[in-house]
Amino acid sequence: MDLVETHSHLNDDAFNADRAAVLEKVFQAGVGKVVEIACAPGEWAQGEQLAAAYPGKIACAFGAHPEYTKTLSPALLLELEAYLGKPCAVALGEVGVDYWWEVGTKQEQLALLEAQLPLCSKFSKPAVFHARNGKTPEKNAYVDLLEALKRWAYRPAGKFRGVLHCFSGTWADAKAGLDLGLLLGVNGTFTYKKNDDLRETVRRAGLGNIVLETDCPYLPPQSARGKRNDPSFLPEIAALVAAHLGVGNSAVADQTTSNALELFGKF
Ligand SMILES: [Zn+2]
Repeated sequence: MDLVETHSHLNDDAFNADRAAVLEKVFQAGVGKVVEIACAPGEWAQGEQLAAAYPGKIACAFGAHPEYTKTLSPALLLELEAYLGKPCAVALGEVGVDYWWEVGTKQEQLALLEAQLPLCSKFSKPAVFHARNGKTPEKNAYVDLLEALKRWAYRPAGKFRGVLHCFSGTWADAKAGLDLGLLLGVNGTFTYKKNDDLRETVRRAGLGNIVLETDCPYLPPQSARGKRNDPSFLPEIAALVAAHLGVGNSAVADQTTSNALELFGKF
């Protein structure tokens, strides 16, 4: 079964010179569908255009990343609502908490998150969550995000309410997320030499609770560190997950694609 790339930033300037060629390579590499993450107000229109150019292959998450904490206005929130009502929209996102870049206080970031979450209920869509811990242990983005999500009343028709994209937390964070109906997004960081804890977390979570992603153009797998990432690396990530779990590549493809389509709906 073809893989689903659940988190790409193909509208990043890094792809301006060869976007169409990259996508041709991606769809020939065994990746059948891509979720493009349009998480800045200036990217929403571009996301819609990209999806329109690849019907049935590319869909979008629309949202305001925590780095827009200080700039998202009520008018922009209304604009976001309009984008989430479009046929190419499959999720809110990426939204969440980032303590690494200190883009705003905890209260400011959670206020932006909580202003957007009702859009999931309004449009029956899941959310793609971003959580990045700070440089000191007390700046724990996972604890604060998951605490906020305990108050999030949205209950989807399917099994999953959202995904903790680019999961980088502890097993305790993962377990708390799974208990809230979230999946773990697994990307190139799974292949990094020092990431034994993440590989163990993925093993404990099991194939039924993960989706695959690249987060391109960032975070290429170990074999391409320092280079531009793109979704054609997804089969390599999937194969390394399969090897780690001791299952066949097709088992990983079948289960993660099924998880992704249950999360985002068929597109
Ligand atoms: Zn992202």
